[in-house]
Amino acid sequence: MAPPLVDSFGRVHDNLRVSVTDRCNVRCFYCMPETEVRFVKRGEILDFEEIERFARIAAGLGITKLRVTGGEPLLRRGLPSLIRGLASIPGIADLALTTNGVLLSELAAPLYDAGLRRINVHLDTLDRERFVRITRRDELGRVLAGIEAARRLGYRIKLNAVAVKNLVEPDIAPLARYARENGYEARFIEFMPLDAQNLWDRSKVLLADDIIETLSREIAPLDPVPDPDPRAPASEYAYADGGGRVGFIASVSKPFCLNCNRLRLTADGKLRYCLFALEEDDVKTPMRAGASDEEIANLIRRNAAGKWEGHEINSSRFVAPPRPMYAIGG
Ligand code: SAM
Ligand code: SF4
Repeated sequence: MAPPLVDSFGRVHDNLRVSVTDRCNVRCFYCMPETEVRFVKRGEILDFEEIERFARIAAGLGITKLRVTGGEPLLRRGLPSLIRGLASIPGIADLALTTNGVLLSELAAPLYDAGLRRINVHLDTLDRERFVRITRRDELGRVLAGIEAARRLGYRIKLNAVAVKNLVEPDIAPLARYARENGYEARFIEFMPLDAQNLWDRSKVLLADDIIETLSREIAPLDPVPDPDPRAPASEYAYADGGGRVGFIASVSKPFCLNCNRLRLTADGKLRYCLFALEEDDVKTPMRAGASDEEIANLIRRNAAGKWEGHEINSSRFVAPPRPMYAIGG
């Protein structure tokens, strides 16, 4: 077994997020511009063979967890066949997908057949008008139908909600209730400076502590759950009445960089050690030029080894990355 991917702060990397497209069928304001989105040309996107090869090499370096994301991954034609390939890679113990759910009704079954069992569906609100305001598309009905289709098939489902202040406060309790009544885990993600229009500022972040207070008041008290994996980004809480769990990704108010175990591969074949990284390593060019597995493995090792201590969202030194969320892969 090759030595694991360790950085200069001793963090071991066993988690890889792979973006399979930068395209999307909605336009969430905290991720994409409303119009004139500049997508990568099709020929610049890694093909399935390249993604699988990369994942196989990464698995040989100790990657055990793989998440497929985007853009909207369900837009990638033939996705079930990629999932089948990734699920069969020796060493990959946990394969998951993050989606906006719009196409889930159609794809939940073929993805399940391909070996997928865990899905995170992005859902900020159950209110149609606010859904349109956030995503600039009228797709709430299809998303809810998609979640229901996935539930019937037996997927483990988490719901990702982006916490934006002065906007989603009325959605917090209804969303959490909907999740617990259906056996899903709601996860609230603090709004991060990764939008395409530079709309972010700290005052627009609805903080995890405020959400915890709302849920404790309106649903049931929440108790922190000691996490079996301290490197997971979400802090887990359990309802004191036994009604399930809620997760909080407090990237702004409680950064978890010192526990980070993640690397990211963009749809156009760039390797990033952090969502907020200002530099990235080109994997596609060497792959297409005939690089050996060992050369690609060395590139992954170098990327991980050079990882910075963490983002500096809370400092005046912070510089937002040139790529917005949809172009990185969240
Ligand atoms: N399209 C899929 C989706 O929306 O789930 C997958 C890609 S999307 C970039 C991945 C996740 O990023 C979404 O679930 C959303 O919750 C999160 N996200 C997008 N923009 C964000 C931002 N500015 N701050 C925090 N989370 C964000
Ligand atoms: Fe699309 Fe996901 Fe970005 Fe929303 S968050 S615009 S669904 S990629």
